Amino acid sequence: MAWLGARRTGRRSYLVESVSMGRSIPQRLYWPPILFLSLGLLVTAGATFAVAEIGRFRAQTRFSANVTAARVTIQERIHAHISLLYSVAGLFAASDTVGYDEFHRFVQRLELSETYSGTQGVGFSARVRPEERAAFEAQARENLPDFRIWPEEPREEYHAILYLEPLDARNRAAMGYDMYTEAVRRDAMSRARDTGAAAASGAVTLVQEIDDDERQAGFLIYVPVYEGGAVPPTVEARRERLLGFAYSPFRAGDLFRDILGKERGLRVAVAIYDGGAAIPEALLHQTIEQPAGYRPAFSTSETIIIAGRPWTIRYSTLPGFDASGEQTLAPLTAAAGLLLSLILFFVALAQARARHEAEQAVRIRDTFLSVASHELKTPLTSLYGNAQLLQRRMARGTPFGEREQSNVNAIVAQTRRLAKLIDELLDHTRLREGRLEIQRAPLDLAEIVRRVAAELGPTFERHTLSLELPTEPLPILGDPMRVEQILVNLIGNAVKYSPKGGAVEVSAEQAGPWAQVRVRDQGIGIPAAAQPRLFSQFYRAPNAVGKHISGMGIGLYIVKELVERHGGTITFESKEGEGSTFTVRLPLAESPAQLSPRQHPSDPPVSLQP
Ligand code: ADP
Repeated sequence: MAWLGARRTGRRSYLVESVSMGRSIPQRLYWPPILFLSLGLLVTAGATFAVAEIGRFRAQTRFSANVTAARVTIQERIHAHISLLYSVAGLFAASDTVGYDEFHRFVQRLELSETYSGTQGVGFSARVRPEERAAFEAQARENLPDFRIWPEEPREEYHAILYLEPLDARNRAAMGYDMYTEAVRRDAMSRARDTGAAAASGAVTLVQEIDDDERQAGFLIYVPVYEGGAVPPTVEARRERLLGFAYSPFRAGDLFRDILGKERGLRVAVAIYDGGAAIPEALLHQTIEQPAGYRPAFSTSETIIIAGRPWTIRYSTLPGFDASGEQTLAPLTAAAGLLLSLILFFVALAQARARHEAEQAVRIRDTFLSVASHELKTPLTSLYGNAQLLQRRMARGTPFGEREQSNVNAIVAQTRRLAKLIDELLDHTRLREGRLEIQRAPLDLAEIVRRVAAELGPTFERHTLSLELPTEPLPILGDPMRVEQILVNLIGNAVKYSPKGGAVEVSAEQAGPWAQVRVRDQGIGIPAAAQPRLFSQFYRAPNAVGKHISGMGIGLYIVKELVERHGGTITFESKEGEGSTFTVRLPLAESPAQLSPRQHPSDPPVSLQP
C-alpha cells in the first residue's frame, strides 16, 4: 500500500498545464505537410519546365518539318516547270520550223493541267528582226486572223508571243505581245539569252490579268532557243543566234495555292516575296494572313534561288499550331501538379490533426489517471489512518471517548469527500459518453437556493454565508438534483478558494427572461491568463495549484455542461487576489402556477455505486 503514502509533487501541476495547451496544433506537426507541399511544388515546377522544354522542342521540330516540306514542294514544282520549258526549247531545237499545230499537239501531250497545274500556260515568244516583221505577222495571221506585234512602235528588235497554250481568253489577250518592251521581263529575257539557262522574272502584272477584280501578282520563266539547237559558246554568239524563248507565265496566286494548298496539310503560314527581302511591295503570295497583332511562337525566313532569281520565303506558325498539343501540356502539368501537391498537403495536414488529437487524448487520459489517483488517494489515506487508529484502540479495549468520536467524524467526512470525487468522475464519464440525462420538472429556483444555503451554511467554519432572495418565486424547468449540484459546486468552490475565510454572498433574482443566481467570494480570484480556459476539463488555475488547494479540475466543466443542457449560461468575473463572482442564468419557465414543490434529499447528490 505504498501508494497511499505518496506525497504531493509538482508533477500534477505540469500535467494539468500541458493538457490545457489548447486545440491548436503544435508547430512541429506542421512540418510534414509543409514538406510535402514544398516537395510537390518543386517537382511540379521541374516537371512543368521539362514538359515545356520538350513541348517547345517538339513544336520546333514540327515547325522545321513544315518549313522543309513547303520549301521542297515549291522548289520541286518550279523545277518541274523549268524542265518542261527545256523540253519545249528542245522541240524548237529539233525542228527548223515548229508550226502552230505541232506546238499545240506537243503541249497537249504534256497534259498541262494534270501534271503542271498552277501555270498559266506554256508559250513561245519569237525574236523578230525589223525587216522580218511584216512577213512574220502575215504568217501568224494564218492561225490567228487578228494577230499583230504590240506595242507597235518601231524598234531595233521585236519579240512577239507566237504560241501560247492553252489558248483561252486570258492567253489570247497576250498573243503578239512584245515582252521585251517591259523592263522586268526584258531583264529576265536578257539574262536567259546571255546565260543560255532558265531565268525567272521579278514580280509583274501579267497581260493575262484581264479581270480587274481578281488581279494577282505574276512572274515568268524563260528558256532561250538558239539557231542550231545548242547553246552558242559566247555571249555575242548567243545574242546573235537567239530565235526566241520557251516561256511560262505564272499567276502567283494560282500557282502557290496549288503548291501549298490545304491538301498539303501545312500548318504554318507561308509568304513568298520576290527578291532578297520580305517587303510588302514584293509579295508574290501568302497562303494565309496572320490575325492582326498575333505573335507566332515560331517564325523564320530564308532566301532561295529560283531560275537565277532570289526569292525570300517567310514561314510563321498559325494560332492553331501554337495552341495545339505539346504547348498546352505545360500549363496542364502545372495545374495537375499544383492540385496533387495541395491534395498531399491537406491529407498530411489532416493526418497531423488526427495525430495531434490522438496525442491529446493520450495526454488527457494520463492526466486523468494522475489527477484522479492523487485526489482519491488523499481522503483514502485519511480514512485508512483513522480506521487503523480505531482498530488498534478497539483491540486494546479502549472505551469510546472524544478522540474516537473525532476519528469517526473524520471517517464520515472523508468518505463523503471520496463519494463526491467519485460522483464527479462518474458525471465526467457520463458526459463524455453522452449518457448524462436531465429530467426536467417545474421548479422554483429561489426555493432551491434557499434550501442549499440552509444546508451548507451551518457547515462553514471560517466563512459567513449571506443570502439575498426575491419575494416572488423564480420558476424554471429543470432537474432538481442537477440544479442543486450546480449550486453546491459553485458555493463549494467559493469556500474552497477563499482559504482565509470571508463572506460568501449568494443571491437569486429575475434578469429579463432569466432566473439568475450569483455566487460571490473574497478569495484568491482567477488570474486573467487562466480565465479563458477555466471551463476546460482538467484545467486548474496556477494560483489554485500553487496554494495546494486540492481539486481535479472537472467540477466547472460539469457545471457548464449541466447549465447549458438546461438552456442557460454561466459566466464569471474575477480579479486575482480580490475574489470571484460566478453568474448562472437559466430560462424562466412560462407560468409559476406549474410549480410543484417536492421534497429533496438533504444531502448533496452522493453515491458510491455507479
Ligand atoms: P477543482 O476545484 O476541482 O480544481 P473546478 O472545475 O471546480 O475544479 O475549478 C477549476 C479551476 O477554476 C480551479 O482549479 C480553480 O483554479 C478555478 N476556480 C474555480 N472556482 C474558483 C473560485 N471561486 N475562485 C478562484 N478560483 C476558482
